[in-house]
Parts: sequence; structure tokens; C-alpha cells
Amino acid sequence: MLIVKNLKFSYKKTAVLKNISFDANQGENVAIIGESGSGKSTLLKVLYGEYDLDEGHIFWNDNEILGPKFNLVVGYDFMKYVAQEFDLMPFITVEENIGKFLSRFYPEEKHRRTQELIEVVELTEFAKTKVKTLSGGQKQRVALARALAKQPEIILLDEPFSHIDNFKKQSLRRSVFKYLKDNHITCIVATHDKEDVLGYADQMIVLNNNKIAVKDTPEQLYKHPKTPLVASFFGEFNVINNQIYYAHQLEVVNDSELKMTVTNAYYKGHYFLIEAELNGEHMFFEHPKSLKPGTEICLAIKK
Ligand code: ADP
Ligand code: MG
Repeated sequence: MLIVKNLKFSYKKTAVLKNISFDANQGENVAIIGESGSGKSTLLKVLYGEYDLDEGHIFWNDNEILGPKFNLVVGYDFMKYVAQEFDLMPFITVEENIGKFLSRFYPEEKHRRTQELIEVVELTEFAKTKVKTLSGGQKQRVALARALAKQPEIILLDEPFSHIDNFKKQSLRRSVFKYLKDNHITCIVATHDKEDVLGYADQMIVLNNNKIAVKDTPEQLYKHPKTPLVASFFGEFNVINNQIYYAHQLEVVNDSELKMTVTNAYYKGHYFLIEAELNGEHMFFEHPKSLKPGTEICLAIKK
């Protein structure tokens, strides 16, 4: 179990993170979200023991995670970290990069394990390819597989699918998160993509103003976003009478108090996102058809 107690950290004078406390059970998936610069990457690095804390403690079971002041070598065997910028060995193959840290005294086991991980990250056809010739997204997948090679108890992932194209992203995400669950590996994942969170995370932590703004299950935070920051993570939303409503919760009706003028319509596949305006205030709602700018409409909250 990961225990983070009242953590405070600053690079220079001002704290980047303060009052950070949370737990993660064995096998749990915890998503860290927040705007760019909110401290997601810093939190992962601090959890990994890359920096010394100003205050607080981090424990993995009975081990306290300590920074460079106390450790000659950063990192622990039970914990792996995949950075936003991954460093691989460019002149050897995908297979060799992944197998690099596995014991060569068990060649069969090493081979089996390497092949298993290559399949998890869907790189089978590139097994014999030199890493330097791969795309950014493919390298990111090699870095993931390499972190999993020695079966860590906990893995820290910094925007793990950010370089991966949409064609591959969905299936890769399912494959990696399933592998982590099946193997009871605790996963702390920093992301700005709601698709990484909904459907996978057991807990979601929102960082804002250097602190944890909220912490709950994705379902609770989606259903009751409470603040615009949380709502904006999930999609377009509106504030009506101090309540937050997503675009799909509004509909066009014959008559209502909310009389608006359409300003834009965006094609979204199975619906259109319509932007409308009233006295300079903009609202967003979903509609099955496109609407012409200038169209007068009335909106209501769906029952
Ligand atoms: P995120 O990953 O959420 O985008 P970061 O953790 O990278 O955020 O950054 C949080 C804050 O810390 C930012 O204001 C950033 O400029 C600052 N920061 C990040 N890395 C360093 C560093 N090595 N030295 C000083 N400041 C840093
Ligand atoms: Mg970051």
C-alpha cells in the first residue's frame, strides 16, 4: 500500500506541492489530473524519491521512500517510473531494450517475459527493430514495457499515452491497464486525458493551486463535479443558477426562460455541439442536427 502523508515540496522558495495526502491500495489505479503546470509530474518524481521533501512522508508498505539526501541511487526495486521523456537505448532492438534488465541466466524465462510484454504494448511486429528508428509513440510503448519487465509492485506513469496516435491509443490503454490490474500492480498515472481515467481509475485526484482540490471516484466526480475545473476535465459544461450542467444535459424546447441565439455548430460525429449566446454569455449543448448561426432557440435542462 502507498501512503502519502502531508507532503510538501518546493524546487525553490515557493511550494509546488503542499498538504498532499492520499493512499493507494495494492492493485489500485489512481489518476492524478490537473492543468499543465499544476504539479503532476513533480508529484510522480517526488513519489519516486527523485527529490527530498520539505515536509511529510511517503511509504510503500514498510519502506519509507527517501530522496537523494538519504539514497546514493534514486529509486527502489518495487517501484518503476515512466517519465514524460523516456530514455531508451537507441542502438539496440525493442526486444533487447525490454529484456535488458532481465536475468540472462534464465534465457527461456527472459524470452517468454519479453514476448509477453511486447504483446501488452502491441509492438510484436517491431520486436527486432532498432529503437532509434521508431516513432515517439512506439518509443513510449517500449519504455512502458521496459518498466514492467521486472514486475514492479507499483508503477508511476507520466502521461503514458500522450505520444500515441488515436488509432492505437484505445486498445493500448485497455491492454496496459488490464495487465496492471491482472497483476495487482498499483498504478499512479498523471494525465490530462479523461479517457485514461473514466473506466480505469479507482480514485481520481485533482491538483490545483499546489494542493489536492478534490479526491473521489471518477464516477462521483463526473456526476457531481462541484467546481468548473473538475467539470472542464470531462467536457463542455454550463453554469446555470450555480449548478453545473454538461452540454448533453441541455436540450432545445419550444419555450423557456433560457432564450439564446446560436453562434456556432461543431460536428462531433453522432451529434453537433452547439454554441449559443445570451447577453454575452455563452452556453454549450448537444443537438442531433446542425443549427444555423442566428437561429433563436430556447434551452432547458433535460429531465
Ligand atoms: P505538470 O506535470 O502538471 O504540467 P510540473 O510538475 O511539470 O506540472 O510543474 C509544476 C510546477 O513546477 C511548474 O510551475 C513548473 O514550472 C515547476 N517546475 C517543474 N520542474 C521544475 C524544475 N526542475 N525546477 C524548477 N521548477 C520546476
Ligand atoms: Mg507533466
